[in-house]
Amino acid sequence: MAIPTEPIGSIPRPRALLEGMQAFQAGNIDRDALDALFDDAVRETIAAEEAAGSPVVTDGEQRKPSFVTYPIDGLDSIGPGGVTIPFADGHTRQLPKLTAGPFRYATYADAYVEGAKRFAHRPVKQAVISASALSLLYPQEGLADYSQAEFLDDLVDEAEQDIRRSFAAGADSVQIDFTEGRLAVKLDPSKSLLQSFVDLNNRVLDRFSDEERARIGVHTCPGGDHDSTHSADVDYAELLPLLFEHRAGRFYIELAGESDRPGVLRAIAKHAKPDQRIFVGVVDPIDPRVESAEEVRDRVLEAADAIPLDRLGTTDDCGFAPFGDDTGTARETAFAKIRARVEGTALAADQLGV
Ligand SMILES: [Zn+2]
Repeated sequence: MAIPTEPIGSIPRPRALLEGMQAFQAGNIDRDALDALFDDAVRETIAAEEAAGSPVVTDGEQRKPSFVTYPIDGLDSIGPGGVTIPFADGHTRQLPKLTAGPFRYATYADAYVEGAKRFAHRPVKQAVISASALSLLYPQEGLADYSQAEFLDDLVDEAEQDIRRSFAAGADSVQIDFTEGRLAVKLDPSKSLLQSFVDLNNRVLDRFSDEERARIGVHTCPGGDHDSTHSADVDYAELLPLLFEHRAGRFYIELAGESDRPGVLRAIAKHAKPDQRIFVGVVDPIDPRVESAEEVRDRVLEAADAIPLDRLGTTDDCGFAPFGDDTGTARETAFAKIRARVEGTALAADQLGV
């Protein structure tokens, strides 16, 4: 296909896995039995993505407890009571907070790449969490023997390793999940918080070569959980100029769910750098209705009016279940939307003659 198309990452976990995770927590099954369920879920997920025609696959994040907390799952130096994120429908997600330094990841994403490579017949994409999201773990009251500057130094080292190890394990590309970008504008309209997030992520990106950075992307969205969002009310125009300051080669941008897609596309065209490829969202995980391939085709054609074809790609607006316990979307719906994305992108490529 001449127009590249990639998933964002997460797919709802199968019922058998969700039940198995609960049984493991209750002490009713052992680690080996749970691992077997994870393997089954990853194998079935990749097979379904490949059956839907996806030229690039992910493990569906079946093993991640969530897109943001996987590096700290099981750490001793983490406690409850961190930053709370309110969603539009009234529900919240609360992050944990750091209780002691030095900060080290408990899990690096290469473990997921290895798990996916066992079953994948196509290139594997791996999502990692941004350093900026994890920077929220540092408690506002500070830590006695571990300054915020020391924490950020350690965090940048760990975020670099997360990406490097993913490539070493065979990831074709790495996507940095930056769902807090638009939220940062909501929390701080002066945009100094957003600027500090971008600066921190660039400390990580600057450690990679141009060739490596061409295979590293940044995902932005208004946050998706239980079919709701945390920052869709923030104007994209407030985010995009600084978003493209990330020294990354790819951007995965929520677009299908926007009410003013042409306006967003004009802002992308204005602010994206010439060496940045733009994957626009053409299916919306929050909308329960499955888009038709023709609808996707028309969205791609609309995007092609604004973005040069050699820099255009398509993606999902967001993951289909960024938090492990989110069952807001059925697996069958996720795969149907992926199929529509792939087929609609191919239809558009045909029509554009590329
Ligand atoms: Zn997202």
